[in-house]
Amino acid sequence: MRLLVVCLGITLLFQQARAQNLPELGDTSGALLSPYTERKIGEQAMRDIRLRDPQFLDDPELTEYVNEIGRRLVAASPAAPQDFEFFLMRDNTINAFAMPGGFVGVNTGLLLAAQTESELAGVLAHEVAHVTQHHLARLLGKQEQLSIPTLAAVVLGLLAARSNPDVTQALIVGAGATSIQSQLNYTRDFEREADRIGFQFLQQAGFDVGGVGAFFERMQKATRLYENNAPAYLKTHPLTIERIADMQNRAQTADYKQAPDSMEFHLVRAKLRAEEGAARDAVAYFAELVREHRYASEGGARYGLASALARAREFSSAGAEVEATRKLLGPHPMVELLAARIRLGAGDATGAQRVLRAALERSRNYRPLHYAYVEAMQETRQHEEALAWLADLVKTYPRDPRLYKLQAKSYAAAGKRLLLHQALAETYVLQGTLPAAIEQLQLAQRSGDGDFYQLSAVEARLRALRALQMQEAKRH
Ligand SMILES: [Zn+2]
Repeated sequence: MRLLVVCLGITLLFQQARAQNLPELGDTSGALLSPYTERKIGEQAMRDIRLRDPQFLDDPELTEYVNEIGRRLVAASPAAPQDFEFFLMRDNTINAFAMPGGFVGVNTGLLLAAQTESELAGVLAHEVAHVTQHHLARLLGKQEQLSIPTLAAVVLGLLAARSNPDVTQALIVGAGATSIQSQLNYTRDFEREADRIGFQFLQQAGFDVGGVGAFFERMQKATRLYENNAPAYLKTHPLTIERIADMQNRAQTADYKQAPDSMEFHLVRAKLRAEEGAARDAVAYFAELVREHRYASEGGARYGLASALARAREFSSAGAEVEATRKLLGPHPMVELLAARIRLGAGDATGAQRVLRAALERSRNYRPLHYAYVEAMQETRQHEEALAWLADLVKTYPRDPRLYKLQAKSYAAAGKRLLLHQALAETYVLQGTLPAAIEQLQLAQRSGDGDFYQLSAVEARLRALRALQMQEAKRH
C-alpha cells in the first residue's frame, strides 16, 4: 500500500541526494537522529507544506477533529512524550503519512473513505506508531549525515511523491533494482511493527479494532485502481495481504469492543463532502440523502445540507436546515459555528456574534468558536473588543500561531504598527521561521509608533530570538 511506498521512497530519495553530492553536515556518530533533530526536520518540512503546498487544508474545525482522535491515540502510548501535530491535506487519495518529530498528515480522501471512526483511528494509530518507533529517523539515520534542511527536503520530496505514483516509480527506477530489495526488507519490518504497535494504541484508546483489517483491504483495492502504472511488485505485493491477515488475526483474538462513532465524525465528513464540487451538486446530494433517509446519522446529513445551502448562498433555507439539525442534536459547537457562518453570509454579523457568544458559554474550550467570534468582531470593526478577547486567549494558548495572526489583523486595522509587527513575529516564531520573525521585530523597532516600554519589549525579544538562531546554527 501507499504507506509502504512512502517508507521506501525516503531511502531512494536519500540515495539520490547522496549521488548528487549534497553537502553533508552534522553529527557523525552514525547513531539515530536525536529527538531534537527529528523535531527540527519535521518542523521545517511542516513549514514548507503550510506555506507552499496548495493542498494544505487550514480548517480549524477539521484540524481540531483529527487532533482530538490523535490525542486519544497518543495518550494510549506511554512512550510518546513528544508533541504530535495532526494536519489535513485536501487530497482524494486514501492516505495518511508521518513525518519525523510527530507531524502526521491526513488526506481528506481517508476521512471520506473511512466508514467508521475506528477505521480512521486505525490508520492514524499506524502512523503514530511509525513516529513513536522512530522509523523515519532510523531510515534517515542509517544514511550518510546530512544537514537538517537537506533532510527536510528529502521528506518533502517524498510528499511530492505522495499522490503521484509516477514520481515514486521514477525514483525506484533511478535507484536500481538491487537496493530496492534490501530497503524493502527494511521497511517491511517497520510496517509490521507499526501495525502491531498501532493496534495496541487503538485498543488502549478504546476504539473498535475489528474493522481495521477490512479497511486495509478496501484501501489496497483503491490503491490498485490508482496505481495501474506502478511497477508490478507494487501491484501484487504480498506484504499487504500478509499484513491484512495479521490485522484480522489480531482483531479476532482481541476482546470485542463496540465503539460508536462520535457526532463529530459525521459532521466533519459532511462538512468536507459539502465543500466538494459545485455548490448546487452538493445541495442536491445532501437533499437526496435526507429525502431518502440514506444516512448513518440524520443530524450529519442535515448539517451537510445546511452547509451546502450556505455555500450556494441560499441563506434562509440553510438557516431552516440548521434549526432542524439543532433540534436533532442539541447544541453542538460545530452546528453553532455553521449557524453563525450562515448569519454572517446573510450580512448579519451581530446575529453571528450572538450565536457564537452563546455557544462559547457552553463550549469554552473549543477554539474554532473563539476564532470565529474574533473574526465576527473584526467584521463589525470592533477591533478593541477583538484585541481584548485575544489577549485573554493568548494567555491560555501561547503556542497558537492563529491567535497572533488575528491580533496582527486588528492591530493593522487600528493603525498600530509596532504591535502589528510584534504579533506577526510571534506567528513566525511558532511556525519555525526565525529569520522572518527577526525581520518583523526590526520593522517593529522602526515603526515609530511605540512607547519606551513597547520598544524595550521588542528589543528584548529580538535579543532572545537572535540567541536562539545562533544556537540552532551551531546544532545544525
Ligand atoms: Zn506504514
